[in-house]
Amino acid sequence: MTPREELVAALRHEDWDRVEALGWRDTFALLKRGWPKRLLASDLAVYATVLGHHDPQLVHEALIGLASGGRAEWRPSAAQLATEVTARRPRVAGQRKGRPDQAPAALATVRELLSRGSAVCACAGGRQFHRDPGGVMRCAACRGIEQGQADAAAELEDEAA
Ligand SMILES: [Zn+2]
Repeated sequence: MTPREELVAALRHEDWDRVEALGWRDTFALLKRGWPKRLLASDLAVYATVLGHHDPQLVHEALIGLASGGRAEWRPSAAQLATEVTARRPRVAGQRKGRPDQAPAALATVRELLSRGSAVCACAGGRQFHRDPGGVMRCAACRGIEQGQADAAAELEDEAA
């Protein structure tokens, strides 16, 4: 079972000891009491389903950030909270080291290709990618750029902007 599945199951059984052991007690307590209108375990299960794969501490901080920043007059929905968590997630730039497809030169090439209209692979099913000499990951079937690499390149562009 993944931590998310465990959390959802704990709420389904209203096993609050388990919820606490998984690290979500404070976050759920804040969600329940921070705004009017009762929140049932079944409502919290929605938050668990949407957010259960994140670090509970990060979710807790995002929730406090939304509320104290005046951006959550009403209780934030699970989706709204997920948006905030994603925006706050630490950058993973350090983890890119050692991956040739994530090297700055490769990403710069991808950015260049995308700006010139190169396609991103949208093939379904089990795809195979080959790294070309420029470090670009290309689909063996359609020659399109791998989605993850295209995303990483676009993200770098956002950071530079
Ligand atoms: Zn493809």
